[in-house]
Amino acid sequence: MTKIAFIGLGNMGGPMAANLVKAGHAVTGFDLLEASRNAAAKSGVSVAGSIAQAVREMECVITMLPASAHVLYVWDELLGFVDPGTLLIDSSTIDVESARKVHGLAEKANCPSLDAPVSGGTAGAAGATLTFMVGGSDGAFSRGKHLLEAMGKKIVHCGDAGAGQAAKICNNMILGVSMAAVCEAFVLAERLGLSHQALFDVASTSSGQCWSLTTYCPVPGPVPTSPANSGYKPGFAASLMLKDLKLSQQAASASGAATPMGAQAMQLYSLFEKLGHGSEDFSALIHLLRGNEEG
Ligand code: NAD
Repeated sequence: MTKIAFIGLGNMGGPMAANLVKAGHAVTGFDLLEASRNAAAKSGVSVAGSIAQAVREMECVITMLPASAHVLYVWDELLGFVDPGTLLIDSSTIDVESARKVHGLAEKANCPSLDAPVSGGTAGAAGATLTFMVGGSDGAFSRGKHLLEAMGKKIVHCGDAGAGQAAKICNNMILGVSMAAVCEAFVLAERLGLSHQALFDVASTSSGQCWSLTTYCPVPGPVPTSPANSGYKPGFAASLMLKDLKLSQQAASASGAATPMGAQAMQLYSLFEKLGHGSEDFSALIHLLRGNEEG
């Protein structure tokens, strides 16, 4: 049993904290939103009144926050209250530079730390089937691995500080580009008089096969569980896809990598969001490519 503080009990953090409780850990949580605090309390998390109260005398602190600015702010605050030696884990998706910055803050406070972003979405968070991509020292990883295993089914140690975030944004750049490509292919098929099912049957067993097609198919029918079958309710919201594509482009320009397809996907999702579709599933991009963003 490990004493864990969990900061950020939203769509992902709430169920993740609940899974730590289920695995027998003593979890104290904090969130700015009362609704998130109440939901966490129902799943057995003991709710604190502030970050300071949550993190004192803990063996591990996990953060699951919206973006880099929140993580920098919260880590700066919590480092004033944690005991030296406390393991600090950030599972938010943030830029590599900020991830390295918070590792640096932790090191100054003599706390081992991990960046451990996830993929698998809210279903993976609820079912404890997330994939964790982890950056940090071997020592920090071996301390944190069993905690991550209570929330996920695949835990990959990607390298040193920031390597987890690097893996996450590279993976999600593939996802953004591949979804745009699959949407384009269905639109072209429609213009050529080819049925959705025929394209699916061929491409899902041919070289066009990919997750965006076989799990998240952007047209209703071929994959009954994909968001296209339920009015493009997320799932994975287009605004979150855009956030990750922006992180990839920020990293590409900082490191001098050429990512023209990633840049193009970012522009498409940016336009889609400007047209008011940021809260729809990211596979709804097909409406934009049809020239009919109203669906
Ligand atoms: P969310 O907005 O539902 O939850 C974030 C929570 O952080 C909110 O409840 C908010 O009140 C809380 N918060 C913000 N500032 C705080 C502070 N100073 N102190 C305490 N609490 C604070 O977001 P989410 O969907 O849970 O996503 C969290 C992270 O996970 C994001 O970085 C996101 O990119 C990443 N992610 C999300 C998904 C997904 O499908 N939702 C999938 C993979 C990764």
